[in-house]
Amino acid sequence: MAKIPMNKIVEMDGDEMARVLWSMVKQELLEPYVELNTEYYDLAMKARDDADDQNTVAAGEAIKKYHVGVKCATITANRQRVEEFDLKKMWPSPNGTIRGILDGTVFRTPILTSRVKPYIPTWVKPITIARHAYGDVYQAVEYRIEEPGRAELVFTPANGGEPMRTTVYEFKGPGILQSMHNRDDSILSFARSCFEFALSVKRDLWFSAKDTISKQYDQNFKLLFQNVYDEEYAARFEEAGIQYFYALIDDAAARILRSEGGLVWALKNYDGDVMSDLVSTAFGSLGMMTSCLVSPDGNFEYEAAHGTITRHYRLYQQGKSTSTNPVAILFAWTGALRKRGELDGNAPLCEFADRLERATLDTIEAGIMTRDLSSICPDPDVTTVDTLPFLRAVRERLENA
Ligand code: NAP
Ligand code: MG
Repeated sequence: MAKIPMNKIVEMDGDEMARVLWSMVKQELLEPYVELNTEYYDLAMKARDDADDQNTVAAGEAIKKYHVGVKCATITANRQRVEEFDLKKMWPSPNGTIRGILDGTVFRTPILTSRVKPYIPTWVKPITIARHAYGDVYQAVEYRIEEPGRAELVFTPANGGEPMRTTVYEFKGPGILQSMHNRDDSILSFARSCFEFALSVKRDLWFSAKDTISKQYDQNFKLLFQNVYDEEYAARFEEAGIQYFYALIDDAAARILRSEGGLVWALKNYDGDVMSDLVSTAFGSLGMMTSCLVSPDGNFEYEAAHGTITRHYRLYQQGKSTSTNPVAILFAWTGALRKRGELDGNAPLCEFADRLERATLDTIEAGIMTRDLSSICPDPDVTTVDTLPFLRAVRERLENA
């Protein structure tokens, strides 16, 4: 059978067990069927150290050029890793660097099968969390107050205009004080990334904050989202048959708990931090969570949400076969291939991505799965397999489909 041709995407290789899964997935399920056309960047820890991390920067720039990238999990250096790899310095997180270059937002979405039940039984469709990753309490200024005194909020215009000054509180005794900020340009980028992502997965977008209490701060988020929607996205949403709406955070939390899922939930920094861990845990295994970085101007980077799975890699280094779940990595690839296909009108590539995802889910539905899933699957008719036999079972289904 002729291999499917495609235009270029950016491929970023990574570290440890994720790197092992990466090449297995390519060898078993991609290269036999697709004329893989990638601009390859090796972002393994040692390669980043050798290149003074300029390969990470180059990969981020390449995503801007080709608009689609797929990334393997990489080690984020810490003191222990500096010693392990004898690094020149403690390089920053590649994901942070690439997010900075693309000005992107991360969207995490679970992959669902009927074999693994979410903790919330009504959630039959995925819930994607989009977290604004700038400002608020994460860039706050805080004081511990030890004595009576007046706390004030002062803004001094750079052009020498009259300062704004408000009393926050007259302290009679010890207490605490905090001030935080956000920027319109960051909120606008976040909003555009959310609208782009919702369009790309054709799901409703919710944005939640607490504008009834925070009449300037949260209200500003709400208004900017609404403006961007009205001016730039309303027509495209209508055409795609999806909706945008704003809901108060407490109301939204209650409604989503009772919902069947199937939406994208955009949240401010702190709310997103809390809800992304809550929602991903409720859906089950890290090996089934995908992650997509979307820039406001429509560049897409696909990844598995998990890391390099160091514990499994140590076993692999001892020559042992492991039952590590390759599904999130596989879906990062199918996500990237489908997006490439959509952007280029390459229908066979999109269909291949769909068929490969179907074959993967059918394999799990048939009871063949890796240990992370079988250990939380209550059914008796389940076979636990190692990674390679799992991929081969997927391949068999793909070829027989
Ligand atoms: P991790 O790699 O996500 O693994 C944590 C644990 O989760 C594993 O030990 C394993 O549990 C389970 N797990 C994760 N993915 C799995 C899969 N596909 N199949 C089966 N089980 C899976 O997190 P970590 O061990 O904390 O981090 C390891 C390295 O990854 C660190 O150096 C960190 O910097 C890096 N990291 C990178 C990224 C990224 O590039 N996006 C993200 C997070 C972490 P059991 O041990 O119980 O089997
Ligand atoms: Mg968190």
